[in-house]
Amino acid sequence: MTSRGVAILGSTGSIGTTALRVLARQRERFHVAALTAFTNAGLLAEQAAEFEPAYVGLVRNGDEGSHPGWGSGDACLIEAATHTGAEIVLNAVVGAAGLDATLAALECGKRVALANKESLVMGGSLVTAAAERGGGELVPVDSEHSAILQCIAGRPTAEVRRLVITASGGPFRRWTSKQLENATLADALQHPTWRMGRKITVDSATLANKALEVIEAHYLFNLPYDRIEVVVHPQSVVHSLVEFVDGSVLAQLGVPSMELPILYALTHPDRVPDSGVPRFDPVSLSPLTFEPLRTEQFPAFALGVAAGRRGGVAPAVFNASNEAAVALFLDGRIRFGDIGVAIASAIDALADLPGDTQDSILRADSAARRHVQEQFGC
Ligand code: NAD
Ligand code: MG
Repeated sequence: MTSRGVAILGSTGSIGTTALRVLARQRERFHVAALTAFTNAGLLAEQAAEFEPAYVGLVRNGDEGSHPGWGSGDACLIEAATHTGAEIVLNAVVGAAGLDATLAALECGKRVALANKESLVMGGSLVTAAAERGGGELVPVDSEHSAILQCIAGRPTAEVRRLVITASGGPFRRWTSKQLENATLADALQHPTWRMGRKITVDSATLANKALEVIEAHYLFNLPYDRIEVVVHPQSVVHSLVEFVDGSVLAQLGVPSMELPILYALTHPDRVPDSGVPRFDPVSLSPLTFEPLRTEQFPAFALGVAAGRRGGVAPAVFNASNEAAVALFLDGRIRFGDIGVAIASAIDALADLPGDTQDSILRADSAARRHVQEQFGC
């Protein structure tokens, strides 16, 4: 059996460390070809010692002591993403910082196992075009999109009537608008079913994450927004559903663990034996329930989906203003409810900027960050 090289961008984060747990069990099939991180040199060094990748990159190399032999700066993401030893690039960076690496890996014909949904939301048409030009392939890591990929199982888009993306509802699923006004950072970071990085955990509390996922599904599966719906499923066991034109509905189920979609993104369309995650027990996971999304309490969701429908630079403005507002919230400088207000304000001011070239998307991204900083960051 030949072993396939995997580059992990963002190896010190929640998805990165989970991926390394999976790869530690799958050493016959895969080896780690490259690792990158932002600042956590200590953990990166431990990972490098254990997995012996050909390439190691630390964006902030030199800030707290220099690591000779390691790549540095933003360029290290591209160096890892295009490394000749890497057949698969797991992009587990958080935020728009992941876009260039996604594009570069696809241009080189690599498989991108995509956790970094922000890069697809921000530059959907650029990413699809890069894959077409370079022959690269985009495979989702997000659990909902992995579920949809597995349910569609190669059937043509014309046979799919609609996608139903499940949402846990986050920590504030039952909170009233009044209670939400006083939600603290600690409340927002208490996700009921998933342990994740801080940014996506806040996105799950505002439901901005579900809007990002609707846009992500639009680009991954090439379906119009009218055929993509969301339902709340608090147990996070049914990872999503696909309704076909004959009325049949397929769902993919599993215990809530990112190890399963990460492994599948590496092996798709094959399946390989693995036993790192507890076996599925329908009785202990019962009951499985579904409820509608309360859109009035979570304005970020509707703003994001509307931005997706609008197209052009609107999704990039949504993504960047959300990132900037979440950073302010994580810093204790704005309240939970201000995140939606900041996104709405940036979209009002900037979503009509012309064009969807890479330049115009990057300009819209910077303008949206500046807007939120100036209007809400003081
Ligand atoms: P995290 O914050 O735990 O990890 C982020 C990683 O990216 C770290 O290794 C960090 O060093 C690196 N990084 C951060 N900023 C960077 C920058 N500017 N340049 C280069 N590297 C940088 O985040 P996470 O929870 O692992 O999420 C990563 C991505 O996966 C996000 O896009 C998120 O939406 C997506 N995702 C995460 C989960 C989950 O369970 N955690 C599930 C689905 C999708
Ligand atoms: Mg998800």
